Formats: sequence, C-alpha cells, structure tokens
Amino acid sequence: MKVVVIGAGLIGLLTALRLKQQGVDVVVLEKAEAASESSWAGAGILCPIHPWLYPDSFTDLVNASLDLYPELQAELTHETGHDIQRIQSGLLIPCFADDAVKHQSAAQVWSDKFDWEMQRLTPKQALDIEPNLSTFVEEALYWQDVYQVRNPELLKAVMLYLQKLGVEVIEHSEVAQLLEHETGSVCGVQTSQGQTYEADAVLLAAGSWSEKLAVQSGFDLHVKPVKGQIVLLKTKPGTLKHIVKHDDAYFVPRKDGRVLVGATMENVGFARGNTVEALSELLAATQRLIPSLKHAQVEQQWMGFRPGSPDGLPYLGKVSAKQGLWVATGHYRNGVALAPITAKVMADWICGTQPNINMDAFAPDRVVCESESVGYPQL
Ligand SMILES: Cc1cc2nc3c(=O)[nH]c(=O)nc-3n(C[C@H](O)[C@H](O)[C@H](O)COP(=O)(O)OP(=O)(O)OC[C@H]3O[C@@H](n4cnc5c(N)ncnc54)[C@H](O)[C@@H]3O)c2cc1C
Repeated sequence: MKVVVIGAGLIGLLTALRLKQQGVDVVVLEKAEAASESSWAGAGILCPIHPWLYPDSFTDLVNASLDLYPELQAELTHETGHDIQRIQSGLLIPCFADDAVKHQSAAQVWSDKFDWEMQRLTPKQALDIEPNLSTFVEEALYWQDVYQVRNPELLKAVMLYLQKLGVEVIEHSEVAQLLEHETGSVCGVQTSQGQTYEADAVLLAAGSWSEKLAVQSGFDLHVKPVKGQIVLLKTKPGTLKHIVKHDDAYFVPRKDGRVLVGATMENVGFARGNTVEALSELLAATQRLIPSLKHAQVEQQWMGFRPGSPDGLPYLGKVSAKQGLWVATGHYRNGVALAPITAKVMADWICGTQPNINMDAFAPDRVVCESESVGYPQL
C-alpha cells in the first residue's frame, strides 16, 4: 500500500511513522522545511487549556492520547537516543478576586468526572509550592499529574526515527492539487513543481494550510490560522517549578531554567512576525502573575499558526465523498497533546482497522458549529 502524507508537522510525521511500522510505503511532502511551523512553535503542555469548556468526547480523546505518551517517549529514546524532555511539571491555575471567569467549580466537576486529580490550594499552600507566584492569589487549582514536552526535541526524535526507518520526507515540495480517478476517488498528488506521486491513500495533514487543498478538491473544511506569539525568558533553574496558567497566559518552566511565556490568540491570517502589542501583553501578564520574573532576560520570541477549527476539535478520518482521501488536521491548541492518538488511529484506520474510540465528533464532514469558548478568537 502506498500513502502520501501532505505536511511534515508533528501530525503528519508521527502518522507517517505509524504507517511505516505497519508496512506501508509512505512519503511525506512538505512545502517548506519539515517540523518548522506550529508543531515547532508550540508550548508543549500536555493538557488542554480549560478542557471543561469542550465536549466529553474531546477529553476522552485527550486521555487516550496522554496514555500513549510514556510508551512513545520510551520508544523514541530507545530508537534514537534522543530525549524529548517530557517532564512532570504539574499545573497551577491561580484564581484572583477580579477574575472575569471563575473556573473553580467547572474544573472540579471535570476533574472528578475524568479522574484528573485536582487539589484546591489555599494562598499559603500555593505560595509554598510556587513561591514566586503573585501574593494576590486567593486560591489555586493544582493538577500534579500534568506533563510538558519540548516540541523541537520531540520533532527531532520523530525525524530521526523516520530516517532510521527509511521514510522519505521531501522538503520544499508543495502539494498543489490532489489527483483523482475518473470515478472521483483520490489517487495521488501533484506538487507545484509539477511532480506527481501516485498513492492508494492521501492524508491531508497540512495544519493551518489544509483548507485550501480541501476546497480545491470539492469539500468544505474549516481551518483558519490562529496566530500565537511566545516569549522565552532566561532565568535560573528552579525560578518557576510548575506550569502556571491564567486565562490565555501561561508559563512553562523548561529543565534548563528557561521559562516560555505564551501565547496570544490572534485572528490575523498568515501575518508572520512578533508585534510590540503582543510582546507587551505577554510581559505585562508575566509581571502580574510571576512578579519576580521582571528581572529575567528576554532571550527570544517566535510565533506559530495553530490550525484552528470553529469548534476547537480536530478533523480526523476519511472524507466520505472522496474515496482515498483522509484528514488529520484542525488540532488547534492541542496538537501536541493529541499527536500520539491521532497517529495511531489514523494509521490503523488507513490500514483497515476501525478505531476503538468513537470518532464521530471529529468527522471531517461533520456539521461544525462555532463555539465561542474554544473556537476561533473574535476579531
Ligand atoms: C504558540 C502556540 C502554542 C501552542 N501550545 C500548545 C500546547 O501547549 N500543547 C498542545 O498540545 N498544542 C499546542 N499548540 C498547538 C499545536 O502546536 C498544533 O495543534 C500542532 O502542532 C499542529 O500540528 P500540525 O502537524 O497539524 O501542523 P503544523 O505543525 O503547522 O504542520 C503542518 C505542515 O504542513 C505543511 N504544509 C502546508 N501546506 C502544505 C502543502 N500544500 N504541501 C506540503 N506541505 C504543506 C506546512 O508547511 C507545515 O509544515 C500550540 C501552537 C502554537 C502556535
């Protein structure tokens, strides 16, 4: 069986890996450099932002994915010797008197329902475990079992493993159109340089750029880029011990002492670059929430385009009107957390095994209703 994967982000690469392990002849085509877009830019928090705002089917998928991470980490270390820096940081959500949204009770209900152990900390308890937190904290929600991964290291390990398995990842090879039989079923792709690749199945995993190819081949797929800007601070290791999150701002302490501050949610199309406004917002949140970080050195900033869907859910599965075409995109804010289950389900499915999770909520041709709480940010 031959499969072409469009897009060398984490989703396309990891699915290609799982396909190859099932004996599939797979090639990944990438319009720019592999592993350089959203998957590289993300913060690597292995837990959704405010998961209680999503339908239950989403948490089921997240939990199934996170269960696969220990095995994935061990496999990548064993096969490549590369450390993906998956560490248990725990997650703290501080609550303040003037919070516009009070998350406490919804978070408690969600945690109880899905077996995520959550503690409600008093200000003293919160400051005991995270001494640099703002002293204005009134209560903090604490999940000890939250992990993070360092995206570039994860991608590097996946790329090394693909190389070892002999999977071709062809860079600077933009897919310009899908090729179809007279019957309408998809049988390959053509690149903008005019090269054709025949295939029994094509997987569209082109992140924020997926909509264009879908529409060209006659089906509606709503994916919009939602830009996220990030600032990296250089601090001493141990300055921050946990992932701290408040509204859309979060702080992720890396092993080497660096603290990643993210992230904006911008509806600005594919406008690249970092802006004064966004950086000021992120640094203002830093001073408000972790005041002692005001002495930290700003080391780097970058951005990425999250592949946003109107309801915040990914599109996973086959396109019923186009035989041979499969979709794995629209992972929005959660593509790193959802990558292991996406890769497993998609590879099994393409190879003929039905998923043992109910995937109806993620069908590419579902009726998508825009969700104000987790969908696209308002302009
Ligand atoms: C600032 C930020 C913070 C984030 N934080 C987190 C987090 O903490 N936890 C989490 O789980 N997720 C997070 N995410 C989301 C996560 O990074 C994404 O959901 C995930 O990386 C999407 O992966 P992807 O492979 O679909 O897309 P991408 O990584 O964008 O890859 C798509 C690839 O397809 C290529 N492509 C596009 N069109 C074509 C074409 N026509 N032909 C060939 N190639 C093509 C692109 O060049 C690109 O390389 C964050 C994202 C951002 C931007």
